[in-house]
Amino acid sequence: MEYENNSKKPKIISKKCFKYPMNCCSKRCANSFNVKVLETEFQKFWDFGDYDKQNNYIFSLMSIKNTVLSSKWDYIFRYNGNILKVCQKFLLSLYQISKSRLRVIQMKIKNGMNLTLLYINYIFNDLFNN
Ligand SMILES: [Zn+2]
Repeated sequence: MEYENNSKKPKIISKKCFKYPMNCCSKRCANSFNVKVLETEFQKFWDFGDYDKQNNYIFSLMSIKNTVLSSKWDYIFRYNGNILKVCQKFLLSLYQISKSRLRVIQMKIKNGMNLTLLYINYIFNDLFNN
Protein backbone atom coordinates (compact mmCIF):
# COMPACT_ATOMS: atom_id res chain seq x y z
CA MET A 1 0.00 0.00 0.00
CA GLU A 2 1.31 3.44 -0.86
CA TYR A 3 -0.34 5.24 2.03
CA GLU A 4 -0.37 4.56 5.72
CA ASN A 5 -3.58 4.94 7.62
CA ASN A 6 -2.25 6.35 10.85
CA SER A 7 -4.37 8.58 13.08
CA LYS A 8 -1.62 11.20 13.63
CA LYS A 9 -0.35 11.37 10.09
CA PRO A 10 -3.06 9.79 7.94
CA LYS A 11 -1.50 10.55 4.60
CA ILE A 12 2.16 9.62 4.56
CA ILE A 13 3.36 9.41 1.01
CA SER A 14 6.19 7.11 0.09
CA LYS A 15 8.99 8.33 -2.16
CA LYS A 16 8.79 7.48 -5.81
CA CYS A 17 11.39 7.51 -8.53
CA PHE A 18 10.73 8.73 -12.03
CA LYS A 19 10.29 6.03 -14.63
CA TYR A 20 9.84 6.75 -18.30
CA PRO A 21 6.25 5.81 -19.23
CA MET A 22 6.70 3.31 -22.06
CA ASN A 23 4.19 1.39 -24.18
CA CYS A 24 1.05 3.14 -22.97
CA CYS A 25 -0.84 2.82 -26.24
CA SER A 26 -0.29 2.71 -29.98
CA LYS A 27 0.19 6.50 -30.02
CA ARG A 28 3.04 6.25 -27.51
CA CYS A 29 1.97 9.41 -25.70
CA ALA A 30 5.31 9.89 -23.99
CA ASN A 31 7.00 10.50 -27.36
CA SER A 32 5.18 13.83 -27.60
CA PHE A 33 7.10 15.23 -24.65
CA ASN A 34 10.64 15.98 -23.72
CA VAL A 35 11.81 13.53 -21.07
CA LYS A 36 12.82 16.49 -18.86
CA VAL A 37 9.23 17.76 -19.00
CA LEU A 38 7.92 14.36 -17.93
CA GLU A 39 10.38 14.15 -15.09
CA THR A 40 9.58 17.68 -13.90
CA GLU A 41 5.83 17.03 -13.91
CA PHE A 42 6.32 13.73 -12.13
CA GLN A 43 8.42 15.48 -9.50
CA LYS A 44 5.84 18.26 -9.06
CA PHE A 45 3.11 15.70 -8.54
CA TRP A 46 4.99 13.89 -5.80
CA ASP A 47 6.23 17.13 -4.26
CA PHE A 48 2.60 17.90 -3.37
CA GLY A 49 3.32 15.48 -0.54
CA ASP A 50 -0.40 15.31 0.15
CA TYR A 51 -2.89 12.70 -0.94
CA ASP A 52 -5.78 15.12 -1.42
CA LYS A 53 -3.70 17.63 -3.36
CA GLN A 54 -2.58 14.84 -5.65
CA ASN A 55 -6.16 13.70 -6.08
CA ASN A 56 -7.28 17.22 -6.89
CA TYR A 57 -4.59 17.39 -9.50
CA ILE A 58 -5.59 14.05 -11.04
CA PHE A 59 -9.15 15.32 -10.91
CA SER A 60 -8.13 18.23 -13.12
CA LEU A 61 -6.66 15.88 -15.74
CA MET A 62 -9.88 14.03 -16.50
CA SER A 63 -13.21 14.77 -18.01
CA ILE A 64 -16.16 12.60 -18.83
CA LYS A 65 -18.23 12.58 -21.98
CA ASN A 66 -21.67 11.16 -21.45
CA THR A 67 -23.76 9.74 -24.21
CA VAL A 68 -27.12 8.07 -23.87
CA LEU A 69 -25.62 4.61 -23.80
CA SER A 70 -22.21 5.04 -22.28
CA SER A 71 -19.67 7.40 -20.85
CA LYS A 72 -16.14 7.96 -22.05
CA TRP A 73 -13.22 9.47 -20.18
CA ASP A 74 -10.75 11.90 -21.67
CA TYR A 75 -7.32 12.43 -20.17
CA ILE A 76 -4.94 15.32 -20.53
CA PHE A 77 -1.37 16.04 -19.53
CA ARG A 78 -0.52 19.52 -18.27
CA TYR A 79 2.96 20.99 -18.59
CA ASN A 80 4.31 24.56 -18.72
CA GLY A 81 0.82 25.92 -19.25
CA ASN A 82 0.16 23.52 -22.13
CA ILE A 83 -2.42 20.80 -22.35
CA LEU A 84 -2.26 17.72 -24.52
CA LYS A 85 -4.61 14.79 -24.78
CA VAL A 86 -3.08 11.52 -23.57
CA CYS A 87 -4.28 8.05 -22.68
CA GLN A 88 -5.15 6.79 -19.22
CA LYS A 89 -2.23 4.38 -19.08
CA PHE A 90 0.19 7.21 -19.76
CA LEU A 91 -1.02 9.15 -16.73
CA LEU A 92 -1.03 6.07 -14.53
CA SER A 93 2.50 5.10 -15.43
CA LEU A 94 3.89 8.63 -15.43
CA TYR A 95 2.49 9.55 -12.03
CA GLN A 96 2.74 5.97 -10.77
CA ILE A 97 -0.78 5.85 -9.45
CA SER A 98 -3.03 2.83 -9.30
CA LYS A 99 -6.04 2.28 -11.49
CA SER A 100 -8.20 1.80 -8.40
CA ARG A 101 -7.19 5.24 -7.13
CA LEU A 102 -8.14 6.74 -10.46
CA ARG A 103 -11.46 4.92 -10.35
CA VAL A 104 -12.23 6.40 -6.94
CA ILE A 105 -11.71 9.90 -8.32
CA GLN A 106 -13.80 9.11 -11.38
CA MET A 107 -16.57 7.94 -9.10
CA LYS A 108 -16.43 11.31 -7.38
CA ILE A 109 -16.65 13.16 -10.67
CA LYS A 110 -19.58 10.99 -11.75
CA ASN A 111 -21.48 11.19 -8.52
CA GLY A 112 -20.29 14.52 -7.19
CA MET A 113 -19.51 12.79 -3.92
CA ASN A 114 -17.24 13.98 -1.16
CA LEU A 115 -13.64 13.02 -1.85
CA THR A 116 -12.75 12.48 1.80
CA LEU A 117 -15.53 9.95 2.14
CA LEU A 118 -14.34 8.18 -0.97
CA TYR A 119 -10.82 8.16 0.37
CA ILE A 120 -12.03 6.45 3.56
CA ASN A 121 -13.92 3.90 1.47
CA TYR A 122 -10.82 3.35 -0.58
CA ILE A 123 -8.71 2.65 2.51
CA PHE A 124 -11.35 0.27 3.89
CA ASN A 125 -11.70 -1.57 0.62
CA ASP A 126 -7.96 -1.86 0.49
CA LEU A 127 -7.83 -3.31 4.01
CA PHE A 128 -10.57 -5.82 3.39
CA ASN A 129 -9.40 -6.91 -0.01
CA ASN A 130 -5.85 -7.69 1.07
ZN1 LIG B 1 -0.82 6.53 -24.67
